[in-house]
Amino acid sequence: MPNRISRRSLLGAAGASAALAPTIASSQGANSQGAAMADNDKIGFAIVGLGKLSLGQLIPGLKVAKGAKLAAVVSGHPEKARRVAAENGLPADAVYGYDDYDRIAKDPRIDVVYIVLPNSMHAEHTIKAFKAGKHVLCEKPMATTTADAEAMIAAAKAAKRHLMIAYRCHYEPQNLDVMRRLRAKSMGKVRQINTTMGRQADLSDPSDVWRLDGKMSGGGALGDMGVYGVSAARYLLNEEPIAVQAWAQTDRADPRFKETEDLINWQFRFPSGVIANGSTSFAYAPTMAFEVICEQGRLDADPAAFYGGNRLTVIKGGQAQPPIPAPPSDQFAREMDWMADVVRGKAPMVSPGEEGLQDMRLMQAILESAAKDGATVKTDWGYKRAVDPAAVVDVPGKA
Ligand code: NDP
Repeated sequence: MPNRISRRSLLGAAGASAALAPTIASSQGANSQGAAMADNDKIGFAIVGLGKLSLGQLIPGLKVAKGAKLAAVVSGHPEKARRVAAENGLPADAVYGYDDYDRIAKDPRIDVVYIVLPNSMHAEHTIKAFKAGKHVLCEKPMATTTADAEAMIAAAKAAKRHLMIAYRCHYEPQNLDVMRRLRAKSMGKVRQINTTMGRQADLSDPSDVWRLDGKMSGGGALGDMGVYGVSAARYLLNEEPIAVQAWAQTDRADPRFKETEDLINWQFRFPSGVIANGSTSFAYAPTMAFEVICEQGRLDADPAAFYGGNRLTVIKGGQAQPPIPAPPSDQFAREMDWMADVVRGKAPMVSPGEEGLQDMRLMQAILESAAKDGATVKTDWGYKRAVDPAAVVDVPGKA
């Protein structure tokens, strides 16, 4: 059973990220082994944009969350919004449209606004929510430009509210397990990481149409899927790349790739000497996997970032051990519960706006290098993650 800890030690952990501190269980972690909070004590979330992720994962996730609850919905389709509200027991006045959602400022039921819109709309709606005095959880990729990402961070600071980026893998048990094994150097030093994140995009699916639109997505497969690999290399190593080289391969005759790149491969160099190869595509078979090659063995997470069914194979001394299934958990509930605890002051911020901005800057560097056919682009601008997820986020069933 994880230990509960004081707010003071949490704040201490937030400042000291590099070392693997004793496991810190947020109230969310402790709650995952106990009862959910009373409804009145839960943090209220307004979900903005009722698309696939909101309807398929987030609203169901809020039903099993221990300390977070659905408080309102914001949509451009009033009929759908009223139906979703009614199905989830929300009163009619908890339904907002994009044009009138400034009114949420006067709605005390809403503590957190969760932005689940096409990427190009994240900045505008995040900034609106801060102006209304709310905290914001924003989907990945954080924005479509680094300027927008910086404006979102500035708006959070001006409003004195929290901005968290919805990097669910920072809270997912298997990813945390791998991070902890690497921090403990259980197979010696890491030498190489390979990440492959992609799938086949489909123009007959409206939610892929905007993903293939340069302006709305900000980068096609790279922003949508590749971002998981960019982020994973960094959180697996708990260090930042100092240089990148990248190459793109895009068939412009394919109607999907009029505006965005398809296959992109990149290579990050880290100060420790680790090389991380990343790949993304919107025209290859679905994969969300990573492999970490250490001095004495390999960790093969395949899948590494699916919504469920993730699986880790440990290969040591040439022998593959039986695959370890990730402990069952709702990643989205864990992430929203973490945000709720951040708002309560009971957990440190693990995936702040600055994390989203770092990935944006690295993806920009990847595109810049790819445009120059693999020219080296320096990325040693001095960013350092504030909090190591492995040091603070609990793993169910593990101390
Ligand atoms: P969808 O296209 O399914 O939904 C987006 C919703 O945004 C729409 O249903 C619509 O909701 C609203 N919207 C408002 N304006 C527009 C517009 N001009 N065009 C299209 N939609 C609009 O996308 P997803 O739910 O798949 O993705 C939303 C966000 O979540 C993206 O940033 C994506 O990267 C992220 N995501 C993250 C995942 C994760 O695992 N963390 C997984 C999947 C997505 P309404 O009709 O209510 O107005």
